[in-house]
This record gives sequence, structure tokens and C-alpha cells, in this order.
Amino acid sequence: MLAVPAVYWSSRIEGERSMIEEFVDNGGKSAHERFQAWRKKHQQGLFLTLVTRARANLHGARCEHFGSGPPYYPANAGLGSLTSKLKVCGSESELRKWAGISRVMVERCQHCVQRGRLAPAGSTQYWIIKAEPDRNDLTTLALKGRTGVWYTGRPPKTWNTGDTLFIWAGSPILKLIGRGRLADPDVGFDGKVYHFRVEYLTNRIDGPTIEHLRSDGVLGTASFLKSGPSGTVFPLTREQGSRMLQLLGGITTSASDRSSKKKPTKAEEADLRRRLGSGFGSAEQNKQVELAAIKDAKKYYKSDGWNVESVEAEKIGFDLRCRKGKLERHVEVKGTAGVGAGFILTRGEYQKAESDEKYELCLVESALSNPKRRIFTGGEMFAAFEFVELAYKAAPMAGKPHEGK
Ligand SMILES: [Zn+2]
Repeated sequence: MLAVPAVYWSSRIEGERSMIEEFVDNGGKSAHERFQAWRKKHQQGLFLTLVTRARANLHGARCEHFGSGPPYYPANAGLGSLTSKLKVCGSESELRKWAGISRVMVERCQHCVQRGRLAPAGSTQYWIIKAEPDRNDLTTLALKGRTGVWYTGRPPKTWNTGDTLFIWAGSPILKLIGRGRLADPDVGFDGKVYHFRVEYLTNRIDGPTIEHLRSDGVLGTASFLKSGPSGTVFPLTREQGSRMLQLLGGITTSASDRSSKKKPTKAEEADLRRRLGSGFGSAEQNKQVELAAIKDAKKYYKSDGWNVESVEAEKIGFDLRCRKGKLERHVEVKGTAGVGAGFILTRGEYQKAESDEKYELCLVESALSNPKRRIFTGGEMFAAFEFVELAYKAAPMAGKPHEGK
């Protein structure tokens, strides 16, 4: 039986306090500088820009549609004021609440969705759930495929079934030990605490430590890493969640678990082959698909204002180096002939996806007929696809020439 971890909570969930701020030019007084200062201070924040009284667009603070940065351009740059239309700034749940009360229809900036700053409509959120080693038996936690019931004094109002959960072991372990999903946000209130069910998607893993995460450019500011808050559930922004998935990309099981890994059964192999698509086509067709995909990707990035440099020949784990102002993306392009098929990454490409913060996968499906493009950050790629090691290389043994009778 899985134990119910005795987890405790703080009186306030970090990141849920209200911090809505509004900026709009008023008469001769511009709010531009204050809005730019807010963007600089809240780089993981979101804002609404009111297109009309009843319609708004939702962006991430760093959306390049409003100028790259920080530093962000000042009022005297000759580009006009960004606050001639009302800007409402805050977290996603706050802005959703604000829009509901104000009867404003919200549309998501697709550019921000593609850049990973904004969740696509209806998609999953990311949370840290914290176990306390001195109160919880961690040896029974995180067994892939099993579920466990946890409890908290104050569950987030905005979480949903299917949300991604990262399991954090508190002091003295202080590292990430598993990944799961929220199977049921509400399995009962016992008068004191609320119970929720977690489905474990990994076995216990030897994940990044607190030092590692605190020094990470994206995760370093996450609330669960601050000393002080004793809580059970902590929110991660979409960008932080995506980065965490990227860090965990290569880690699916602990080392001891890996050595005892079973061979896949015939049925599992057949299933994998089916999902990968039957056969990968001839070498000639593959070449055509690849060329068409690269062409489509280049066209897209150029039209989006990127300076595109082909680095396929350099064999550095990606195909296109894209630059726009201070931004840089390392884009690996994969093409497929059909839709929903798999693709192959070399070991170098896989390692790049795991380690490079600038990594981006541009998957072009139906590349030869009707190209459909999907863009993933490294983290999103590891969340969206299952990876299996496919190939082995056989070499003659040293000192024993193969005689081939
Ligand atoms: Zn945007």
C-alpha cells in the first residue's frame, strides 16, 4: 500500500496573491515607462492588451510583438506609447478572473503560445508537490503506473485533472524525485485537509538538486526554491514547467531501475513499430521529405523576422541557427511524409534537446504535400513524444578478425 504522505501547507499559496496592475495613458500622462518596468520585473507574468472594450489579447511579458528585451524600449524611442490601449498585468488565473468580471473575451497570442510563454487553450498546468522525507515514506512514492493519495490544507483553485506534477523531496534530500499527473483534484475533504490523487508517470528518479535548480536561468526564480515557504503545492509557470520537463528529458528511471529494465515484449515492439509508422520510406523519399521540411521551416522563421543560418553541415545537433535581436533559437527540423508519424533523432540531437535552453524542434508533417508545422521547446518535445533507443552498431571485436565462414 502506498502511504498517505503527511504534507503540510502554508496559509497562502505562493504566487496566488493578487498582483493585478493596470497601465493606460491618461491625458498627457504616459504609462509606457511603468508598463515597461513591470515587464522587466515580471518576466514570467502575463498581460492583456485591450483591443476593444470587449476584446483582449493575452501575451507573455516578454512577447516580442511589444519589442524585444529587457531592456525594453523607452518612451522617447520614437516608437509610440505601448499604453495608449489599456494593459492589464498579472498571472493567468488573475487575468482570467478579471476578464470574467469585466466581460472581456480573451484571445491568446499564437506567437506567445509557440514560444512556450503561454499555454495553448485547455492545456495542462505545472505544479510542484512537496513530500517531507521525515514524515513520508519515500520508498513507496513514485512507482510508475501506480497512484497515490496526497493531501493539502489548501489546494489551488485553478488546477485540473491532467495537470503535470513534479514531485519534490523536502529537507534533507532537496531534489526532484518523480513526475506525475493530477488524476483527481478532489477525492474528499476530511474536515481538515483536502485529498487529491496523483498518478506516477516515472519511478523514483535521481532528479536535479536544489543547487542545480537555483542556478538555472529559467527555474531559479520558482517559488518552491525559496527558503521559507512550507507548503505542499507550488505553481510553476509554463516556461518553468517546460524547462523542468527538459531537464528530466533523459531521466525516466533511477540507475538501479535501469539496469533491471526488462526487454520489451513482442506486443510492445509491434505497438511501437505501429506508432512509429510502418517503414520509414526509401532513402530517396526521406531525402525529399527532409529537404521540403527544411525549406518550409526556413520560410517560416524568415517570415517571423528571424535571421536564419543553415548549420546542417556542421553536425552540431540542430539544423538552423535563428537570431532576432538578442534572441537565439537552435532549431532542429524534422519532416515526415504523413501525419502523426514518429521521427528519428540521433544521439547528438537527443542530447542537444536535453541540454540546450535555446533548442526548438520544428516538426513538419506532410512535408511533401501539404506541410503542417508544429514547434516544440525541448521540454515540450519530451512531454509530447515517447523516446526509445533504436539502433545498435556492431563492430568486429578487437584482435579477432571476423572470418565469416
Ligand atoms: Zn504575444
